[in-house]
Amino acid sequence: MLELLADRTKLMDASGIRKVFALAADLKDPVNLSIGQPDFDVPQQVKQAAVTAIESGCNSYSQTPGLQELKDAVIAKETSRLHWDNPEVFISSGVSGALFLTFLALINPGDEVVIPDPYFVIYKQVINMLGGKCVFVDTYPDFRMTPEKVEAVVTDKTKLIIINTPANPTGVVSTEDELKGIADIAAGRGILVMSDEIYEDFCYDGPSPSIAKFYDKTILMKGFSKNCAMTGWRLGYVVVSQELKPLMNELAKLQQYTYVCAPTPLQKAAITALTVDVSEHVADYARRRDMLVEGLSDKFEFVRPGGAFYMFIKAPGNLSGTDFVTRAIENNLLIIPGGVFSERDTHFRLSYANSPDKLKKGIEILNSIA
Ligand code: PLP
Repeated sequence: MLELLADRTKLMDASGIRKVFALAADLKDPVNLSIGQPDFDVPQQVKQAAVTAIESGCNSYSQTPGLQELKDAVIAKETSRLHWDNPEVFISSGVSGALFLTFLALINPGDEVVIPDPYFVIYKQVINMLGGKCVFVDTYPDFRMTPEKVEAVVTDKTKLIIINTPANPTGVVSTEDELKGIADIAAGRGILVMSDEIYEDFCYDGPSPSIAKFYDKTILMKGFSKNCAMTGWRLGYVVVSQELKPLMNELAKLQQYTYVCAPTPLQKAAITALTVDVSEHVADYARRRDMLVEGLSDKFEFVRPGGAFYMFIKAPGNLSGTDFVTRAIENNLLIIPGGVFSERDTHFRLSYANSPDKLKKGIEILNSIA
């Protein structure tokens, strides 16, 4: 059968994460600090809104770019943060769906895309699949995507710069100065910026700045998976200024022939999700971050994360990320080797989207095996 498969997916690599799951398969009740999903439930009023939408017959296809009511609600929410007149909104099947369609719409073989390393896995794999060239900005050891580092890698072939703040897997939040500097580079060369701000609400030491404030050619992406724990609902959105309206037309075309539309009753319920106050959860996660920062022994080197719900920690001693994760799994703790998110395998990612009890156990295990 293998010879019948298209070449396309061979350009993608899922072996790193597969190895971890294979190792973890035999664990009975692991301390699982590997998951990128909040441990709280979908807010009750959002669930109720979905039930009401389904029962009242909101079950057909929606317009391809999304329910107008939801798009209006997104614009109302985002207008307070953006200075764009008349922004355009597109509702997607999760931010993953938005990323996939956006890369399909933009990337020709040979186009260069600037990506911070460490990175969220989808960027690299989809760009590779499309024949684009990932140009990584090595952000070790402080994980800051600075204008200087970006300037050093842009070329005439650069089509897109990816920003992810707060970042997965590092938890680093970009500063306004960094974003303004990157916006200036992009503007000077006519490069597009894609800003993945799915963790916007999980920002613990002040608001999360957006490059969209400084640059009109920003493709802004946000979703509902993290702030309302709606990972299984598959809802996200893209916002652009009028200048990038032609991109939205292409996204609609691509969605029409792939996902068709995001799930209609859930789009309806997402209008309620936009109004939910998640500040208590965020405060709770800030305390969990502090618990880890204070609880890990000085054998671990890390940057105190300002957002998201991850820490990206150097493997102690001279161990590779994979070797340390193997040791952790042998001790019933599930974490992810840094090589899954990076061109290097020196770190590991830990998610603190888990109960304080589990985090306490996780800290004990980590300190005992370092
Ligand atoms: N972007 C980042 C940085 C993420 O960490 C994730 C999920 O882990 C996504 C996008 C995808 O989210 P969604 O569930 O909306 O597809």
